[in-house]
This record gives sequence, C-alpha cells and structure tokens, in this order.
Amino acid sequence: MSKRFQFMNSFLFKSLILLALALPAQLLGQSADLNLLHDQILRERIEAHTHFVAHDLLEGRDTPSRGQDVAAIYIASHLHQMGLKSFSDSLPDPNRLLESYFQKVPLQNVIPADEGMLSIGGEEFFSPENFLQLSGGNVDIKAKMVYVNYGSEADFEGTKVKDKIVLARGGNEKASGVREMFIEGRDKARRAEEAGAKALVEFYNSPQTSWSMLQFYLNTPRMTVDEGQGQSTFPRFWVEDVGNRKRDNWSGHKKEVSIRTQGAVSESLGAQNVIAYLEGTDPVLKDEYIVLSAHYDHVGIGVPDADGDSIYNGTRDNAIGTVTLLEAARVLSTSGSKRSIIFAFFCGEEKGLLGSEYFVSNPPVPLRQMAFCLNSDNAGYNDTTKATVIGLERTSAENIIREATAELGLEAIVDPVPRQNLFDRSDQVNFARKGVPAVMYSMGLTSFDEEIMKYYHRPSDNPGSVDYDYLLRFTKAYVLTAMRLANTSEAIEWRENDRYFEASRRLYGL
Ligand SMILES: [Zn+2]
Repeated sequence: MSKRFQFMNSFLFKSLILLALALPAQLLGQSADLNLLHDQILRERIEAHTHFVAHDLLEGRDTPSRGQDVAAIYIASHLHQMGLKSFSDSLPDPNRLLESYFQKVPLQNVIPADEGMLSIGGEEFFSPENFLQLSGGNVDIKAKMVYVNYGSEADFEGTKVKDKIVLARGGNEKASGVREMFIEGRDKARRAEEAGAKALVEFYNSPQTSWSMLQFYLNTPRMTVDEGQGQSTFPRFWVEDVGNRKRDNWSGHKKEVSIRTQGAVSESLGAQNVIAYLEGTDPVLKDEYIVLSAHYDHVGIGVPDADGDSIYNGTRDNAIGTVTLLEAARVLSTSGSKRSIIFAFFCGEEKGLLGSEYFVSNPPVPLRQMAFCLNSDNAGYNDTTKATVIGLERTSAENIIREATAELGLEAIVDPVPRQNLFDRSDQVNFARKGVPAVMYSMGLTSFDEEIMKYYHRPSDNPGSVDYDYLLRFTKAYVLTAMRLANTSEAIEWRENDRYFEASRRLYGL
C-alpha cells in the first residue's frame, strides 16, 4: 500500500467512524425531541389553557382591562412554575411575585378635538375638513409664523423660532409616505419645542394616502404608546395641501397664525407584556436569543351577534398563539436549548401592535442579540393539513421551519393572500423593521374564505369551536420548530433581496 492510500484509508476510516457515531446521535436526538413532545404536550393541557384564556370571564382581554390582567397573571403563574426567569432586577413586592414577569407598557388614549379652527393670514381652515391635530390637547394660540422648509436639523439651525408657530413641509427630501411623514414629524416637533416654538404645522401632500383616509385614521379615538418626554403634548398639526398651493403661497411670509381646538382628551393608561427567559446551554450561542412571541390580548366586548353574544373570546386570535407559546416554554424549560430564549406575551396587538412596539423600543437585551422572532398569531384556519407561515420564504430559516413542521405531518405553506398584507398586521413586523429576522407561524389558512370570516373578530370565536386534535398537532409543530431554531448553530438571515435586509445589516453590523 502506498503512503497516499494509507493516508486515504485512515482518513476514510476516521470519517466512517465519525459518521457512524454522528448519524445515529443526530437521529436519536431528533426522535428524542419528538418523544419529548409526545410525552409532554397533552390534549387536556391544551384544552385547559385555551378554555381558560378564552373564557367569558376574561371578557375578550381588551387592552387594557381586568380580563386581560387576569390572563397576564395566569401566564406569569405558569412561567414561574416552569422555573423561567424574569428580567426585572428589583425585588418584587412580596405580594406581587408574579408581576415581576410584567413589562409595563405606558399607553395613551387620544380622543381628537371635535372642533378646531386654524387661520393663516386671515385664511381659515376647519378640522377635520382640511386640518387635523396630531398631538397636544386643546389649544388657543396666536403667534407669528416661521417657515423652515422640511424642518431638518440644518433647517432649524440659525432660524429664530422662539414663540412662533413653525410651518414645515411634510416628510423629508426622500420620503413623502404617510408613515415617514408621521415619524419625521415627531422629530420636527421635538426640535421646534426645544427651540421654544409654540406649535408645528406641516403641509400634508402625500399622494399615497388621501385626506379622507387620514380623517378616518386620525380623527377617531386611538391608542398609542406613551413616549413620555413631552413629545406627545407639543401641539402638532397637518394642513391639507396636496397641490402645494398653500406652501407656495406662505413660505416667504411672516403672517399671523392662530389655532384653536376644543374637545380633545388624552388619558394615560397602562397594560403589560409578560416576559420570561431561559438561558442557553452553549457557551457561545447563549449570547443569542430566539424570541418566541404571541399576543394575548383581543378586542374585548362589542356589538352582539344574532344570539346576543357580545364577548369576543378570541380563541383563534390569539388564545391559541398564547397556548402554543406556553407549551413551548414548558417543553424548552425541560429540554434546554443551545441559544437563549425570550418568551414574550404581548398586549395591545389589536390596538396597533403596541406591546411589541414598546418591547422593541425598550428591549430587555440589546436587539442585536436577538437572532430570530418566531411569532405565533392566528386569523383562523381552514386547512388542518397545514401550517401557514407568513414570511416563510423571506429568511434562511425556511428549511428548518419546513422540516420541523413536516416531522409532525403538517405542510408549512407561504402566505396565500399577499394582498391582505398579513406580515405587516402582526407583531413580527416590529422586529423586522429593526432588522431582526421574523416570521408569523399560524394555523393552516389557505384563503380568507367563509370558514375564516365566520370566526375572525366575531363573538363566535369561542373555545368550544376549534378542532383540538389539530391544535395538538399544530402546537407540537410550533414547539419543534422553536426547538430546532434554538439549537441550530447556523446564522439566520433575511434573504438578500428582502426589504428588511439592509436594516438587518445595520443592526448586526454585517
Ligand atoms: Zn386580531
């Protein structure tokens, strides 16, 4: 035998030995995971959790409400039994042990002014026909105007705005979408306030969203996260100006402006996310967190149906997500995992993804340590052979999710109704916007058909109306997917052409 062959032989031999050792171990590991799931996840437990969270006594878990608080205590009680840790570092009140799992979410209920008048150099505008108040309570202000173009940092520099009413174009040079305008406007309002101005009036000219749509969204009572620091009390307005006529007319002037609004109410409210974590076992991977999340709120009590039922129990949406997450917490607290895991139960999803918005702005660990968000949320289901994973094809976790789901006999399918914009309608989008790869894992939904609409946001979404055999299988599929994501040493990323790819490069410093 030549030396070369000797080497080859020994290499082959070693490889074969390694393969012989590694393969069965991996296979054993996989079937051990399945055995654990079959032992631990029981139909009775899923029924018990679901019937509790979706019980009439919890009155539809509106944000905020006593029913929701009871659900929060129930969740925290289970997390504590499982030995999971809370992030709160201060010692809890001895009578309020379970609240140590709460992340308080400050909210604000804004009821817009029912009367308003704005006058610029004698030309008058009325709310809501052609001007709208975005923040601040009732006002009665009169002052000279000052025009600051877009109102960027540079625009404000060297411009005297003290005691004046600041007029600015909406958005910035690059962005004129309503969302960007709204966010940019908050920064402008802060600059104006810091420089001693009395109010900010922006010219609204976004072609994408009509004024009547704006009235619909902004001139109705709404709930927001209370950002504090006075940002939301500084008076801020939009004036309708799609043709840019007003801006062109007034930008060069120093006219007198007066603004008066009446009937605005803003009240502070509070709710809570429920958060726990499990430390990873791998010395390196434990610095990365997989976020398993679900919103536990629903829409409360509302218009009764034909049977007189007025409680919107939200079994599918989203007692079921809550239960899949509780089961994931229980199984993973037994099995452990290489990566660390955050279990996040969000409030305020139905009010505009508020709990998750607050969470990503006030994360318990730096966002760049969050490797993935597997959100569990449901509109409903109409196919019990599937799990619908919104965003499935958009990250490199696709294969892991497909394979884990298939091991439980379910097929993972991509978004069947892209026009419904489901990805942007649940909590995962708040992670995605920051760059964290995220998907929404849901029960099998193939279209928004009659079967879905029969229960979606209706009092009929009762705990007795779901198929618990399917729910058992579905829960196991979610939990196995979570286990595989928490144990893979592969990095998970947005696909390169994805709209969140750039955000993720910035977040992780790639
Ligand atoms: Zn919903």
